[in-house]
Amino acid sequence: MFDCLIYNMKEQMALFVIENNGKTVLIDTGTSSEVDSLLNHLQNIGIDHLDYIFSTHVHVDHIGGVKRLSTQFPEAKIVVSEFYQKLPETKFAKKESDLAEYHEYLVQNLKNRVIYVGEGDIISLDDLKLEIYSAPGHTPEHIAILDRKNMNLFPGDSIGGHHLGSGFSRPTAYPPYFNHESYSKTVKKLSQIDNVKSISLAHFGVATGPEVQEVFKISEDVFKAYKDTVVESYQKNNGDLNLIITALLDKFGRSPNEIKHNRPDALIFRTLGGISIGFINTLDLKSKFKVDSK
Ligand SMILES: [Zn+2]
Repeated sequence: MFDCLIYNMKEQMALFVIENNGKTVLIDTGTSSEVDSLLNHLQNIGIDHLDYIFSTHVHVDHIGGVKRLSTQFPEAKIVVSEFYQKLPETKFAKKESDLAEYHEYLVQNLKNRVIYVGEGDIISLDDLKLEIYSAPGHTPEHIAILDRKNMNLFPGDSIGGHHLGSGFSRPTAYPPYFNHESYSKTVKKLSQIDNVKSISLAHFGVATGPEVQEVFKISEDVFKAYKDTVVESYQKNNGDLNLIITALLDKFGRSPNEIKHNRPDALIFRTLGGISIGFINTLDLKSKFKVDSK
């Protein structure tokens, strides 16, 4: 695990490297700004090539470094969800979506280096098998990866954004892709995999032993608690987004990191506003409560 110090913040984004008998994998990349420190780190731990770079999902903190890293490591294959192959047939295909944009980049620049994977597919690092799980909800194309040799799961953001050190969680319920129903199914499916010994959390830490099932429980409970607050406040305040955000902040507070770094309210409001809109959209509250959302 490597703390890539995303946006110069500690313990907010973990990248994971696996090495087995000379074969190497990087799981997610951070944004392009963190590539230099990642390259230093790889050098420090004696990794001079990457066989595979996985993209768990399309968000910039997970794929933003692909362009630079694929140049730096010309042998690396880029592993993405097979969802991209049927993207044109989905409602997500519109030109300006970042899914379409990322796939266009891959096809135009790295066409022969892309590996599309789906549920049950295996990528082998010699005797270490990485099994793919389709894990939609946070985004529609999200994949999770299970290292079957160590029984370690890499869920990306598919089971939320739990911070193991502080115990603080916020739902990764951002528009435009968040779908609460698929999210819950994904959490349930991944929590039922037998004998998972650890979970490598992108945001942030490695859960082991009894923490594993705890993380899955939090993944469900935190989403439910935020959802209930959004719905209740939406109804009470006639869809006023500022009042919904204030209700979330009153109830769940700021993260330890936001307090420590005195993060401005405007930034916290933007995050909570995103989460609120994610729930409002996925639950279709606008038509349910017939209000003109402000
Ligand atoms: Zn994400």
